[in-house]
Amino acid sequence: MGKILLKNIENSNSADINEYLKIGGYKSLIKAFEMQPKDIIGEIRESGLRGRGGAGFPTAMKWSFAFADTKFPKYLICNADEGEPGTFKDRPILEKNPHLLIEGMVISGYAIGAEHGYVYLRGEYPYAKEVLNKAIAQAYEKNYLGDNILGENIKFHLTVYQGAGAYICGEETALIESLEGKRGQPRSKPPFPVNVGAWAMPTIINNVETLSNIPYIISVGGAGYSKIGARECTGPKLYSVSGCVEKPGVYELPMGTILRDIIFNYAGGIKSGKKLKAVFPGGISTPVLPADNIDCPMDFISMPRFGSMLGSGAVIVMDESVCMVKVAYRALKFFEHESCGKCTPCREGTDWLRKILERIECGKGREGDIELLSEVVDIMYGRCFCPLGDSAAGLVMSMIKHFRNEFEEHIRDKKCKNQK
Ligand code: SF4
Repeated sequence: MGKILLKNIENSNSADINEYLKIGGYKSLIKAFEMQPKDIIGEIRESGLRGRGGAGFPTAMKWSFAFADTKFPKYLICNADEGEPGTFKDRPILEKNPHLLIEGMVISGYAIGAEHGYVYLRGEYPYAKEVLNKAIAQAYEKNYLGDNILGENIKFHLTVYQGAGAYICGEETALIESLEGKRGQPRSKPPFPVNVGAWAMPTIINNVETLSNIPYIISVGGAGYSKIGARECTGPKLYSVSGCVEKPGVYELPMGTILRDIIFNYAGGIKSGKKLKAVFPGGISTPVLPADNIDCPMDFISMPRFGSMLGSGAVIVMDESVCMVKVAYRALKFFEHESCGKCTPCREGTDWLRKILERIECGKGREGDIELLSEVVDIMYGRCFCPLGDSAAGLVMSMIKHFRNEFEEHIRDKKCKNQK
């Protein structure tokens, strides 16, 4: 599979519109404008595209709900708030291939009937903001954005909105609250944003990678696109690989590539010849996998069969020298800090989990602490208002399941065996 999403990014000027036009950029937009919106949605349905933000929801199904809603105006939001540790797959698109995203958003806006789009950008991506704004200005200049695009009676305006650095604003309803100028906390669902979203109007929220697939689908057709990747999980996938590997980075591979291949073939294997110990296959909000369970196809359908999830495709690799108690503690410190405080199980639960893990990690663990962790996890799981709380609980649960011995050793020996 040649590069689709990261095409031409080796070109140091790839973010410029003229370079994008040289490689056939905006041709899909012209083709899409010759189609009816419902036919575009039909192509997306045939492609099998699933959202790349983590949930893997079928994109065409989401679009068809907004398409069928007669309220106006409708909004299209690109979720560019990737803020989880180890997740940086959207960054190369934002910084090096912004016109692919813009083209995808104009086509998507036309398909669902939205005339205004927003890119909700992670607070910690100042360079991406600069690149995006420059690319948007170029697209306006060449009339790929604005009123009467390319002489057609179609309009689409695009605005970059930068968040303030809260992880929870990656959750779609918290994102909308933040975009509306309120405190970024999740809303209860239903109603879902497709019908009652930004400013209470129908709103489609798609991830950067999802929207960047649209021009290629229009170019080759839904059937052509569906030949890439796995059955029921089609297309290319960006995997961001970090941690103890020789070649960390973002890899564009077919959806369903085996995790072992990603680590040992593409990312060059474990650094300094050490042994693999564990992997978070889709960021720290996905359950950890031990080294003997990595022959799994990295797609939305297969991963649950192996006890984890694809998530955002952020592969975090840990070698034999990594202390899993410390990993759990650091992850919970993150979740505790990012908990928005709206619901009690998450607000209090992440605080308790962090406190217990901290004392185990620093050699002050007590008999019964593992049971206490499990008890807090049980109270949290399924009772949190949004996925953040469940992710924190799930992480601790999977760590205790696979690496209980390390927790026991820390409590018994009052230190980590890796400490000299
Ligand atoms: Fe906020 Fe956590 Fe509750 Fe989500 S689960 S609403 S982040 S307190």
